[in-house]
Amino acid sequence: MGYNVTVLAGDGIGPEIMAVTQTVLTQVLAQSEQQIQFNAQLFGGAAIDVTGSPFPPATQAAVATADAVLLGSVGGPKWDEATERPEQGLLALRKQMGVFANVRPVKIFSAVKHLSPLREERLEAVDFVVVRELLGGLYFGEPKYFNEKEGVDTLRYDKASIERIVHYAFKLAATRKGELTSIDKANVLASSKLWRQTVEEIAPLYREVRVTHLYVDAAAMHLIQRPAQFDVIVTENMFGDILSDEASVLGGSLGLLPSSSHAQAGRAALYEPIHGSAPDIAGQDCANPIGMLLSAAMMLRQSFQLEAEATQIETAVETALAAGFLTKDLGGQTSTRAFGAKISELIERSG
Ligand code: ATP
Ligand code: MG
Repeated sequence: MGYNVTVLAGDGIGPEIMAVTQTVLTQVLAQSEQQIQFNAQLFGGAAIDVTGSPFPPATQAAVATADAVLLGSVGGPKWDEATERPEQGLLALRKQMGVFANVRPVKIFSAVKHLSPLREERLEAVDFVVVRELLGGLYFGEPKYFNEKEGVDTLRYDKASIERIVHYAFKLAATRKGELTSIDKANVLASSKLWRQTVEEIAPLYREVRVTHLYVDAAAMHLIQRPAQFDVIVTENMFGDILSDEASVLGGSLGLLPSSSHAQAGRAALYEPIHGSAPDIAGQDCANPIGMLLSAAMMLRQSFQLEAEATQIETAVETALAAGFLTKDLGGQTSTRAFGAKISELIERSG
């Protein structure tokens, strides 16, 4: 009965922001007389401490039957020297779930836009999404090794992997402003030549979407110079890793941004904030829970088609920010729990 969500709070600030988020989710669904079942499991460093493995069998089993997975964050200095690494759990989780499309929406909250490193006029109307291929390219290609004389990585993309991420991005662009920017390095890289050719082949299937190609070096500049001109960006794994981190600072704090990762239609998706476990502030009740809350809102919308409930959370977050409820990273003094309580109060009133 109800939606079955596997909860992996993880390490560092993960458990703190997850607690706030679960409370808000339960509240929002109760208002519309729906139920959500949380199945909390060990993951990352927390799982290593108890079981010796970052992604133990019980967690794997829970993920395999989940409707969606909510993830806090993993890792921390405690496990830096360990033989088992929390980050290995993350790669194994993505692989098991088959999530090939990592989606990071970037928008600016007007209440905190003064924290952005960009001039205010450049931030006007910034609202775009980075779609990053997550299971291929340089991070996975074989051979991969290093020795005294050389270090080797292999950048390989097969056509099918490019097609599925490009289709995903076109479909997303069709639901937004209809602008797709494909980012590659087709003047130098063979994998990028195949990438660009594949995008061109698929483009006629989505006549409502306008496609632009950009080289990754130019794209890195344009993200700073004219971020408002982007709608949907699609790119391969490493370019997406770098560009999405670049994009994440536009809004002023890493703590603000959500993400989702998707497999084929019909399979469960993974939702997590873009930031890491922030060990420097863990346990202090000062972490910003917004990236986690907005990830949960994405889950309601995308996995469960609960549009109204997702919007309720997003609106409450904007209202709280505008009312001056700001965590430390945003220059305020509101605690994690106090921010959560404010969101609950706003949802209570709007429900
Ligand atoms: P990872 O390798 O896991 O990505 P990282 O060290 O690159 O970790 P974060 O853990 O995201 O990055 O932390 C970077 C900085 O941002 C830290 O100073 C951290 O305290 C801060 N930070 C990250 N997330 C939040 C948050 N939700 N609220 C407040 N501060 C945050
Ligand atoms: Mg990082």
